[in-house]
Amino acid sequence: MTNEELIEKSLHERIDAISSIYLVMFEIDIINDTFTEFKSKSYVNNLIDFSKKTNCQEQINNVMKNLANDETRPAILDFINFKTLNERLAHKNTITEEFQGTVNKKIWARARFIVIDRLEDGSVNHVLWLVESIDAEKKENERLQKEAEISKATSKAKSTFLANMSHEIRTPINAILGMNEMILRETNINQIYEYAENIKAAGKVLLSIVNDILDFSKVEAGKMEILPQQYDLSAIIVELINMIKPRAEEKNLEFIVDINKNIPRELYGDNIRIKQCILNLLTNAVKYTQKGHVTFAINFETIDQEYINLIIKVSDTGIGINKEDLQKIFYPFDRVDEERNKTIEGTGLGLSIVQSLLKQMESKLEIKTEYNVGSEFSFKLKQKIMTDEKVGDLKHVYESTVKIEKYKELLHAPDAKLLFVDDTQMNLDVCVGLLKKTQIQVDTATSGMAALQKVCNKKYDIIFIDHRMPQMDGIETLEAMKHLPENLNNDTPSVALTANAIQGSREMYLKSGFTDYLPKPINPAKLENLIRKYLPADLIKANSEGEVEQSPSEEIDDKDLPNLEGIDIHFGLNNCGDFGLLKQMFCQFHDTIDQKAEELQSYLNENNIQDYKIKVHALKSTSRLIGAVHLSEKAELLEHAAESGKIDFIKENTPELLSQYQKFKEILRDYTEKKEGSENKEKIDNNSLKEKLKELIQGIEDYDYDKLENIQKFLNSYELPLDFSSFYDRINSCIYNVDFDGLNLLIPELQKRIQ
Ligand code: ADP
Repeated sequence: MTNEELIEKSLHERIDAISSIYLVMFEIDIINDTFTEFKSKSYVNNLIDFSKKTNCQEQINNVMKNLANDETRPAILDFINFKTLNERLAHKNTITEEFQGTVNKKIWARARFIVIDRLEDGSVNHVLWLVESIDAEKKENERLQKEAEISKATSKAKSTFLANMSHEIRTPINAILGMNEMILRETNINQIYEYAENIKAAGKVLLSIVNDILDFSKVEAGKMEILPQQYDLSAIIVELINMIKPRAEEKNLEFIVDINKNIPRELYGDNIRIKQCILNLLTNAVKYTQKGHVTFAINFETIDQEYINLIIKVSDTGIGINKEDLQKIFYPFDRVDEERNKTIEGTGLGLSIVQSLLKQMESKLEIKTEYNVGSEFSFKLKQKIMTDEKVGDLKHVYESTVKIEKYKELLHAPDAKLLFVDDTQMNLDVCVGLLKKTQIQVDTATSGMAALQKVCNKKYDIIFIDHRMPQMDGIETLEAMKHLPENLNNDTPSVALTANAIQGSREMYLKSGFTDYLPKPINPAKLENLIRKYLPADLIKANSEGEVEQSPSEEIDDKDLPNLEGIDIHFGLNNCGDFGLLKQMFCQFHDTIDQKAEELQSYLNENNIQDYKIKVHALKSTSRLIGAVHLSEKAELLEHAAESGKIDFIKENTPELLSQYQKFKEILRDYTEKKEGSENKEKIDNNSLKEKLKELIQGIEDYDYDKLENIQKFLNSYELPLDFSSFYDRINSCIYNVDFDGLNLLIPELQKRIQ
């Protein structure tokens, strides 16, 4: 055979093979409405008049009317309509339509047009008309689909089972932890206390594992929703640092924080999930690093005026991950390098959850890692910008959170007498509070004039005078004392207090006649050291070796501290020494907001910049005292403006300052003095109550004790509807007794009240 003959033979064989699956093969001349038949099955042959080969449209219509069953007939008739063919084939060379037959066991078939030739204007001239049997294919698809459905249902059942199980497991764990908490509170026996501490530690690990499983199964079951809302990025950062820094330091790791000050502060996104992702990476970094450092960096890139990409990076100098293992770290329950990591607790779920959450937020985790050198995990998140505000310098946060140095008094001097002069009552109260346990007798005066009277009546051992006061400032007060003939305190050491400590302050105050100076907010230890320095030795009853029995002071646990918006609680604690005093300061700060804000506003209205300056200075120092750092910074800006007479700036920025200030009425509402005695309580509005009850149900379902306590605190500060109060007593008593079973029983009634 010649080459050509060979090719022709092979072509015929192929066409033969192909034609065995085709029921019909026609070439159609659309314009002339004629056809050439290559092949058709016998039951098709009977429907066509081959003698004519004309009226093609009519003939095909006739074939399809008979071939297709009732359901698929209309669509297939549309499909073979020559009139619309041109349009449908304008941008492609083939189109198909499936239909089910009436004969031959109702097999499924697919009709197809293929363009063979077009006219110059692109319209279709000749087409190939094919009908092929797709029954086997269809059956296979159906089988696969069914299988996929079964497997999906099985997997869903598994996830739901896991979710339910972990939910169920949390009940007894929480009961154990709750009861254990009672033991911790009530036992006086050291050994028992230690056992209970161990139960608590192990319980918390168990709880975190169960929570991981719950999150993972939620992701699997597609129940983990992304709920975006407006949030404050700096709050997330502060919270994360507060959580991770102590853990890093416990392992002697350096914790480096690198936050771009210019990142927009108010963003729109799912803050809870973002925090969860970062926390996971930070926890891993600390977990898998034995020495060196862990770095937490946040930067951003501008997309346009409305959007940025947040860039989050967590790196460590830890054990790193093998190249071969890199893919595996995202597999749920897979932990790599098991031999090396066997002493490190983990479920192998964290990164898989992070990856899923990031995917839902249209991002993904990037990893750079070197075995035995360290790793870097990073991701980018597109977020909407809500205001012009920037996160600013958060340094004071991580500098003040180094460790909560528990304040313990170093000296007792019950016979010593001190005078504190300050125009801000809160500052005086803090001094009194700080010195309470030293038993020193403390007098206070709220103005220079008042101080002049006091120094004539009593001999003090040290006098502390605030610099910036209205009418007579600290330096003038000291000067006036010197010239007062009845003054019993001419040789008493005097200490200047200032919130504006700058370089050279000390020299300035010494020159003005002071013995020493102390920057505000007052550091408890520094205050005591200073007192020790200037107090006559015979008045001091014990020294720092601790000969004196120290009164027990409140143990501060990071977890027990409230999370208050705009307040750096650690900073406040450092200033007040213990949480009791800080709470007292919150109260005073809260209860004077209206009055102080009004004063500021009226000085401004009167253009009395001198007094405005003093008031805004006082606000700077009291807000610093309680840890309201941003507010304090704002007040400081305005104080500077007042100093340099920038009235326009003051007028422009005071409203913003006051509105920030007013917000603390809400933030600190739990600390108001007024909340005792219901006659002063505000009536709760119905919607807020419902909202809180919804949260309460959620808290009960999640076994989230902290949440329940917060809700309880919130509700306690309101006057509740009469018909609710006895039910609320039941809720309260269950919360107090950590009785989740009891709370669960209350859910139906709670639900009724929400409707
Ligand atoms: P686990 O609960 O085991 O920590 P993860 O899903 O968070 O689970 O992490 C999966 C695995 O990835 C870990 O078991 C560990 O081997 C590895 N890994 C994660 N983070 C780090 C890191 N920072 N350094 C080294 N290995 C890491």
